[in-house]
Amino acid sequence: MQTHLLGYPRIGSNRELKKACEQYWAGKTSIDQLLETGNAISHQNWKLQHDAGIDLIPCNDFSYYDQVLDMTLTIGAIPERYQEIASDESRSELDLYFAMARGYQKNGLDITAMEMTKWFDTNYHYIVPEFQKNQSFKLFSNKIINEFISAKQAGINAKPVIIGLITYLLLGKEKEENFDKLDLVSNLLPVYIQILTELENQGAEYIQFDEPFLALDLDNKAKEAYELVYNEIRKQFPNLKIIVATYFEGLKDNTSLAVHLPVDVLHIDLVRNPEQLEEILPLLPRSLSLSLGIVDGRNIWKNDFEKSLQLVKKVIHEIGTERILIAPSCSLLHSPFDLDSEKDEAILSPEIKEWLAFAKQKVHEVVALKKLANNPDYHALQLLAENKKAIETRKVSTLIHNQEVKNRIAIITEDDAQRRNPFNVRKEIQQKELQLPLFPTTTIGSFPQTKEVRSWRAQFKKGELTAEQYDTLLKQETERTIHWQEEIGIDVLVHGEFERNDMVEYFGEQLSGFAFTQNGWVQSYGSRCVKPPVIYGDVHRPHPMTVYWSEYAQSVTKKWVKGMLTGPVTILQWSFVRDDQPRSSTCKQIALAIRDEVNDLEKAGIRIIQIDEPAIREGLPLRKSEWQTYLKWAVEAFRISASGVEDATQIHTHMCYSEFNDIIQNIADMDADVITIECSRSQMELLNAFADFKYPNEIGPGVYDIHSPRVPSKEEMVALLRKAQAVIPAQQLWVNPDCGLKTRHWDETEKALKAMVEASREASLEY
Ligand code: GLN
Ligand code: ZN
Repeated sequence: MQTHLLGYPRIGSNRELKKACEQYWAGKTSIDQLLETGNAISHQNWKLQHDAGIDLIPCNDFSYYDQVLDMTLTIGAIPERYQEIASDESRSELDLYFAMARGYQKNGLDITAMEMTKWFDTNYHYIVPEFQKNQSFKLFSNKIINEFISAKQAGINAKPVIIGLITYLLLGKEKEENFDKLDLVSNLLPVYIQILTELENQGAEYIQFDEPFLALDLDNKAKEAYELVYNEIRKQFPNLKIIVATYFEGLKDNTSLAVHLPVDVLHIDLVRNPEQLEEILPLLPRSLSLSLGIVDGRNIWKNDFEKSLQLVKKVIHEIGTERILIAPSCSLLHSPFDLDSEKDEAILSPEIKEWLAFAKQKVHEVVALKKLANNPDYHALQLLAENKKAIETRKVSTLIHNQEVKNRIAIITEDDAQRRNPFNVRKEIQQKELQLPLFPTTTIGSFPQTKEVRSWRAQFKKGELTAEQYDTLLKQETERTIHWQEEIGIDVLVHGEFERNDMVEYFGEQLSGFAFTQNGWVQSYGSRCVKPPVIYGDVHRPHPMTVYWSEYAQSVTKKWVKGMLTGPVTILQWSFVRDDQPRSSTCKQIALAIRDEVNDLEKAGIRIIQIDEPAIREGLPLRKSEWQTYLKWAVEAFRISASGVEDATQIHTHMCYSEFNDIIQNIADMDADVITIECSRSQMELLNAFADFKYPNEIGPGVYDIHSPRVPSKEEMVALLRKAQAVIPAQQLWVNPDCGLKTRHWDETEKALKAMVEASREASLEY
């Protein structure tokens, strides 16, 4: 029996990589300093796993921005628009890489970034590969080989982790019509062969191909492509030990395909889908080992050793110990780094901490499970006893259950999820009430979280600022932002969200049933990390959460200020959720808490309230057959939160990058008066779903990309608005950026928003 990890978090125990990247981008440090930080993190990760006793230690799971972009650079799928940077000898490979990730606006060049989208059903974002019809590939970057050599020099024969060929192609996007990305298999395969040849020459024994698509719905063409690719790889590399890793779902109807691929190890996610074991075991050929993903890589709960051991023993019973690997369910990229750094008991209580395991702890769980499954020694049995105790105390803890919350959930009726009147009635009332112009302008909520704003919060937390001083500073920033929006002529203002650290954490901190960590950061995209709250118990809202700030902001202006809330599905989706009741039940509890807040905002005179639900789409089950069940409770949760108000109160929602085609009916069912969506990177393509559906409510397609520091021109936004008008009646359109502006600087923001307001005016001239 062996242990292995599919991947380890790479942001560093104190987010060193984030800081190093941002310093480098700001021109404050050299590339060597960045590389040094990166190397140090890789080495720490290897050492940690080695010392813990992990048998197969991954390499190339490290990345400076994103593992998919790494692969894109490795195989040279560099879009045409970066050619000038690629061919400029004075620029490093890493500069090209960052230009692809973030766009490039320097030295007379102005190049947009590549698209970014969510990694399966996680809150990690990857950079979408772009393919042309006659896309050619060549080995461009040696990152994989270099990382392998670097591990070898550290005394570790690492297992390179590579995105599997089929998964890589399926993650990408065709940028030309009339071809299918899977037709590129034969162009791409030789480059994979070349990479494997180099790795084998360097002494690699194991290779892990991540093929999560193997656990998703596949058409016949993809299935055939899987067979072709792995047969060819097997033929060329009879001696390499090939691991195919699947995760986030069960193999289900692809079981036969997966177990018959000519590879050495198949990794399956037994946290997400333990049932698949029943189907796999009888079909498993003798030549195939099974990697059991039993430690949850997506959540922070301590593993239940007894439960896991039952599974492992069942497999031992069927296939013996030799062909078993023990592993986390997926890469630990999605877990925070180390529970040991949670030292402040005022932040995370010892009782709750006892129930948790972060990446480092999961490594030890994996090792302990192997020992326990294999003639455990005294020490292992002690670990088992401790584990049992922690699992038991959590089950019976009084922290978790609140009868009042359960009673309130029990009496929810359909009416609670229904606005008083349909949209067409509400629209007229709202028009009279709000008196907004055509193409009203607004923003998505946050304004730049400058160094100052963040330092006030830090100082306040450290006790260096009193509550009063902190409050005054935030009020000044809010007022300044309100007046600035007035000055440039935005129609619906926002208060700027300066009091918020994060759109979920801020609410979680005020709701009961949530716990927090000091350092539980998880990478979201590039250098951006999030610190998801832990929902451990029944949720309710002991007091209003945002009314104070919305009321204040509204008091300093005659224009409408939009109240700003995070929706129940997003709070759920971006938290670590309790695993002792269905997610839908937890979501409903949050929905009631948000509803209370919406109603209180209305009472305080706020007439426009936005309930952000950027995570609705990422919550979709990966298998289509399970979509409607999820959407039903998710949409209902949103409606429960939004439906307590009068018709005159305008409810907005906001969603970041999502495709809407296949869920447009459900989006319409949410019945928000206005929806703002991220749209600009797709050049308004995403609007077509709304147009085809004849989406009746109002809609604000984002007219500029906020993930990049690039300032858009007025002309380019007018052009996008024209595109929008071509498919959606002008009376339904709003003008706004793609998302909140918290990660941007003020100078970019000022220029961009001024241009946006001008673009809206120019567009309305035609009417
Ligand atoms: N209101 C939030 C903000 O502007 C929305 C963020 C999001 O959608 N991710 O920051
Ligand atoms: Zn957004």
